Amino acid sequence: MGKVQRRNSHLTDAQLKQLEDLLLAQKEDILNKISDQTQYALDPNEQKEQVDAANNNREKEQEARLLSRQGFLVKKITKTLQDVTNGEYGLCKECDAEIPFERLMARPVADMCITCKEDSEMNEKSKLYKKVSKSLGKTAQEYGRI
Ligand SMILES: [Zn+2]
Repeated sequence: MGKVQRRNSHLTDAQLKQLEDLLLAQKEDILNKISDQTQYALDPNEQKEQVDAANNNREKEQEARLLSRQGFLVKKITKTLQDVTNGEYGLCKECDAEIPFERLMARPVADMCITCKEDSEMNEKSKLYKKVSKSLGKTAQEYGRI
């Protein structure tokens, strides 16, 4: 078995271990929360209660959204843990820059350096802005027809 060449050499073994522990703890925490929620959702006493249907739906929707968000995070953490194993952790996926240890400790699933992250957030915002102005334009057109 050939040893994978480590590229994330800006992190010491101790730092990597610390980050890996943090990722594992976060993953476990989310998984525990998910199983709590699933149990709550399946609680038979809860099902028997007469709950306002609309309210019930809204809660279910919220729950599903929460679960999918958490599921997304779990996937992201699993992928990040693979990167740790492969020696690719802590490198920006856009420009290959080394992500500083402090940033990783604050946000262990970070996969972009600050510069690329800000760039991508700016792109998101301008996309959102375009979308909003497009729909506003459409609304204006619809008003024009009336
Ligand atoms: Zn970058």
